[in-house]
Amino acid sequence: MRILVLIAIGLLLYVIIGNLLRRNRTSSTTISAEKMVQCKHCKLHILEDEALRSGDDFFCSKEHLESEK
Ligand SMILES: [Zn+2]
Repeated sequence: MRILVLIAIGLLLYVIIGNLLRRNRTSSTTISAEKMVQCKHCKLHILEDEALRSGDDFFCSKEHLESEK
């Protein structure tokens, strides 16, 4: 009977740890997933961090930013 209890506890821990690991993985992917924006001039998708911003518009390069002015 004691063995069954140990197996039950083991299975419970396995499920709990599995859920925790899965939750950590999904939360870390949402953190690393960076926001994409579109260049107003050539419609190229770029990371918001790398994009040049002019008001509400984003551009992939300085040339495209200048050409939309
Ligand atoms: Zn562009």
